[in-house]
Amino acid sequence: MKVVKFGGSSLATGEQVKKVFKIVTSDPERKIVVVSAPGKRYPTDEKITDLLIEFGKRHLHDQESRNILEEIIERYILIIMELQLPDSFIKKIRNDFMQLMSIDKNNPVMFLEAVKASGEDINAKLLAGYFQHCGVEAHYVNPKDAGLLVSNEPGNAQVLPETYNRLSNLKSRLGIIIFPGFFGYNERGEILTFSRSGSDITGSVLANGVGAKIYENFTDVDAVYSVNPSLVKDPKEIEELTYREMRELSYAGFSVFHDEALIPAYRAGIPVLVKNTNNPFAAGTKIVNKREKPNGSVVGIASDTGFCSIYVSKYLMNREIGFGKKLLQILEGYGLSYEHSPSGIDDISIILRENQLTPKMEEQIIDSIKNELHAEEVHVEHGLALIMIVGEGMRQNVGTAARASNALASAGINIEMINQGSSEVSMMFGVKEMNERRAVQALYHEFFIGVLV
Ligand code: ASP
Repeated sequence: MKVVKFGGSSLATGEQVKKVFKIVTSDPERKIVVVSAPGKRYPTDEKITDLLIEFGKRHLHDQESRNILEEIIERYILIIMELQLPDSFIKKIRNDFMQLMSIDKNNPVMFLEAVKASGEDINAKLLAGYFQHCGVEAHYVNPKDAGLLVSNEPGNAQVLPETYNRLSNLKSRLGIIIFPGFFGYNERGEILTFSRSGSDITGSVLANGVGAKIYENFTDVDAVYSVNPSLVKDPKEIEELTYREMRELSYAGFSVFHDEALIPAYRAGIPVLVKNTNNPFAAGTKIVNKREKPNGSVVGIASDTGFCSIYVSKYLMNREIGFGKKLLQILEGYGLSYEHSPSGIDDISIILRENQLTPKMEEQIIDSIKNELHAEEVHVEHGLALIMIVGEGMRQNVGTAARASNALASAGINIEMINQGSSEVSMMFGVKEMNERRAVQALYHEFFIGVLV
């Protein structure tokens, strides 16, 4: 049995839905289909989920919201018309969306959760209806009926362990199961969504629960590329990746696959295949436990901007027991999470996503570190990009760091910091944001082309 997930762009129009139908029905093993809400039809288009969030917020604040709801319904109607489905489908969709107007607003957070989830939920019902209309046995299954239990964390729900056993019952259902992605239910039966793009998580959880042979994740690119195509033209496609490599890459800006989504598949040893709905015969990228092909030391380069570094220096820091703990406690007090912490003998840098900090908070943190920890120097550096080179092969290959830093030096780029994860699967370079593109290009040429242009 295969679990197949289709992302928003694969379901954005009637034409796309027809492709999905063809892909699913061309392989009898594709028994469980997870769907996103319709996504963008063209780059400047809006995702249904974003429209729903806008609708939800307006409705909560008693602002004009009917227009947005109509816009959303219109998008579904267009799909229904392109699929030449009977008018009863339009009535049903309108009814389903109109019910959003009557959800209890007394708990605004839970109201928004239910609104956000409706894009996927209604799309799954529509898809199941389309399959049935085409004479294929297919059934919409609600995550509550299937037993997809999640924690009480709105917009960041985590799957509870008992879910997996319950989901295994899906194996005995007849026909094709069409399952909405992106949300589950808490113990009280309330809807909670995963973090954005979380339908990938639903697919992986289902694949684990039913012990699928493979989890196919259909999107709009032929493969996972070795580097962001908007930074390097026509980058190489990656044939095979390990879970750890994919996790590192998706953490640092590879948006093809949700970084949390790998865990359930990984735990059950289920390979994940990233494929293109618009070109289903392309081989795609397979994510596995162990790579067959060594593929050199680096398989991919990822980068992301929007980081800052809190630099702290104090003479003899290395001998002071508990210094790191106290420093992190100060950050914890402000509810800040950190990403990395490269350190020297007398200094340490804490790398954070800078959107967490306000100028006021920054001032207070600097004061606290100076006063409570008696640090000699504390400053915050803004506008950093982190670039990660990723590959399990790094462990066996000598000189990867030297090659990377030489490549950056030859391109005239100053490295603000270097950090190698203990697992030796990735190496991170901090550079100024304005150097991100050139740095990524220099590294790509070093590891994938071999000639610096
Ligand atoms: N529709 C949701 C989002 O836009 C979830 C998903 O597409 O996976 O984030």
